[in-house]
Amino acid sequence: MSDVRGVDGPRPAPNPLDAPFWAALRNGELRIQRCDACNTMRHPPRPVCAACGATQHEWALVGGRGQVWSFTIVHPPALPAFADRVPYNAIVVRLAEGVFLVSNLVDCDAAAISVGMPVEVVFHRVDDELTLPLFRPAAR
Ligand code: ZN
Repeated sequence: MSDVRGVDGPRPAPNPLDAPFWAALRNGELRIQRCDACNTMRHPPRPVCAACGATQHEWALVGGRGQVWSFTIVHPPALPAFADRVPYNAIVVRLAEGVFLVSNLVDCDAAAISVGMPVEVVFHRVDDELTLPLFRPAAR
């Protein structure tokens, strides 16, 4: 999977707000913030619900299925950290729960990627600290 970020690539900066997101991924779970007051799902993690202003939330386990909302294929020139990976795809996934994640699509040729394509999460373990939520094509 040459299109997948590896140990030497950019990493998420430690942040208490999204630490539970990354901890869940290390355990093979995709968890998204859900407001305790109005049940609105939100991603990326934020301290306050944009829908109702509440600060209380839980980390809801989600199914990991969705659709490609948008995508691009990155060609040279690329940032130095990604230069050895071009061409690679970057996708925006809309999960069934309604939130959006930016990721990479694996197990799929670039020419086969399309908007609306059903996808499912796969957990790509980079090392002991970092597991990335990538996506692969799923059955309709
Ligand atoms: Zn809310």
